[in-house]
Amino acid sequence: MNKRVATSTDQKNMYRTIKETCLTANVLYLLLHIFYLILFIVAKFDILIYLDAAYIGLYLLFFLIIFKKKYYLYALCCGNVFFAFIIVCTIMMGFGSGFGFYLIGLCVVSFFTTYFSKNRNIKGSIVWVGLSIAIYLTIYFVTQFNTPRYLAPRWLEMTLFTIHSVLAFVFVASYLVVFLKYAFSLEKKIMNESRTDELTQINNRYSLYDYFDQEKDKSNLSLAIFDIDDFKNINDGYGHVTGDYVLKTVAEIINNQLSDSFVCRYGGEEFVVVMNKNVAYKKLEEIRKTIEKTTFEFNNNKINITTTIGIAEYINGISLEKWIENADKKMYSGKNSGKNKTVA
Ligand code: GH3
Ligand code: MG
Ligand code: MG
Repeated sequence: MNKRVATSTDQKNMYRTIKETCLTANVLYLLLHIFYLILFIVAKFDILIYLDAAYIGLYLLFFLIIFKKKYYLYALCCGNVFFAFIIVCTIMMGFGSGFGFYLIGLCVVSFFTTYFSKNRNIKGSIVWVGLSIAIYLTIYFVTQFNTPRYLAPRWLEMTLFTIHSVLAFVFVASYLVVFLKYAFSLEKKIMNESRTDELTQINNRYSLYDYFDQEKDKSNLSLAIFDIDDFKNINDGYGHVTGDYVLKTVAEIINNQLSDSFVCRYGGEEFVVVMNKNVAYKKLEEIRKTIEKTTFEFNNNKINITTTIGIAEYINGISLEKWIENADKKMYSGKNSGKNKTVA
């Protein structure tokens, strides 16, 4: 159940990122075409004026595709029509106009689209890159051997060249920023999930290794192991689902009462706690008594459990394994002498 909820939230976040990126991109493309329209009107490039006006209409229509949530279709249409625009403008105004630079930016967009698409076929992006290189060089050679229809005045050619150079870099950088941000948030989520115990939703044993490495001064710390007594009998007597409920509730009790200490589920029915050594015995005894007094009610069953706790102070320079082993020995001495006790 939890898993399904998490997946649908992930998808929602992903679709939100895609939608926001598409909308922003479409607004920017639209503004760009309005800007071109002004330039083409000033320069009196009649065919390009009509072409650009048609493109403005097209980009307005693209909003419909985005609102219908057809993002892949949008990316395809948007990429292809812009591709065509670049080719026409370069052939009509010459390679020096710098329209060709956009092809580099579009390659990045194609990889971006592949990542967020359903089939994630990277071959499509590689074909797109190949096609872009071929078109880039073709328009270069075509414009070298044919006089462009419009000879742009020097100011216009320099303006376009500068704008297109800058935009190509901005294009690449902005798509990579969105992509990196998404990758960072996923990485963070995966790190959190890999450090969280699925059943109890508290830290798992891997977070204990991180905690041990990160905590520089351990001189005033104690490590304690909680082990539920005769837990196997609960599973055998009431079933595993009830056993799971007990584990979740015990985790909650320990975690809530030791909110300022490190708590994790170490495995099975064992929990590890790292806390200030001066208060460890007193606080852990309190928790042991709380658990002993708690009646766990599940499926009309009333269950009482006890725990045995072993505490070991940190000894300068010891490894985590040794520290756990020391606490384990204390816990087992408690088990062997009647259970339901805290041994320091
Ligand atoms: P002791 O007092 O000596 O600790 O006895 P015990 O029965 O608690 O210890 P034992 O190691 O024999 O059994 C531990 C049991 O914990 C066995 C295993 O099935 C159960 N267990 C481990 N992980 C889970 C879990 O995630 N859910 C449930 N329901 N049971 C679990
Ligand atoms: Mg055990
Ligand atoms: Mg046990």
